[in-house]
Amino acid sequence: MRIILATKNDGKVKEMAEILSEYDIEVISQKDADIDVDVEETGSSFEENAEIKARAVAMLCDEPVLADDSGLCIDALGGKPGILSARYGGEKLPYSEKIKGILTELEGVQDRTARFECAMVLVYPNGKKISSAGAVSGKILYEPKGTGGFGYDSIFYCDELQKSFGEATDEEKNSVSHRGRALKELCGQLIKIKE
Ligand code: IMP
Repeated sequence: MRIILATKNDGKVKEMAEILSEYDIEVISQKDADIDVDVEETGSSFEENAEIKARAVAMLCDEPVLADDSGLCIDALGGKPGILSARYGGEKLPYSEKIKGILTELEGVQDRTARFECAMVLVYPNGKKISSAGAVSGKILYEPKGTGGFGYDSIFYCDELQKSFGEATDEEKNSVSHRGRALKELCGQLIKIKE
C-alpha cells in the first residue's frame, strides 16, 4: 500500500515515515507527490482539521491520503494553544518566540501539566475515511531543554521518558509520542481491514 502524507512539515514527514516503515506501507510526502495546496484549518477539533487537510489533498490525487492535526494543550491555559499551536502568536512568529510567549504566560504558575494530542485521518479515493487519536502527558518546563525535535519539543517534559522531547532521540520520542500512538492505532485498523 502507498499513502500520500498531507503535510508540508518536514519534521512530521520524518517521524511518520519512520513509524510507517515498520509496517508494509510506502509513504510519499505531499511535496514529493508534487501537490501544492494551502488549506485553511477551519475545524474546531484536531480530527476536523486533519480531515480537512486530508480531503484537500485527496481531491488532487487518486491515492489514499493521510493527514494529522496535533498540538500542545496546557491545562493552566484552558487547553491552549491546542488547535492553534502552529498559529499561536502569529503563523510567522519563530518557535523561539512562541515558546517565550508561553513561558511568560506561565510565569508564577505552579500547575504545569500539559499534553500533546494528535488526530489522524486517512481518506481513500472513494471518499471513505478512517481515523484515530493519540496523546502523551507531561509538563511545561521553566526553560527550554535540548535541541532535538521541532515546535514546542524543548519545553515539553515527557513524564514517560523523564526528559524533554528536545532531549529525546527520534526513536524515544516516536515510542511514546501522540503522533506515534495515533499512527500505530491507525495502522492497527488498516491491518484489520486487510485481513
Ligand atoms: P499542525 O501542523 O496544524 O498539526 O500543527 C501542529 C503544531 O503543533 C506544530 O506546528 C507544533 O507547533 C505543535 N506540535 C504538534 N506536534 C508536536 C510535536 O511533536 N512536537 C512539538 N510541537 C508539536
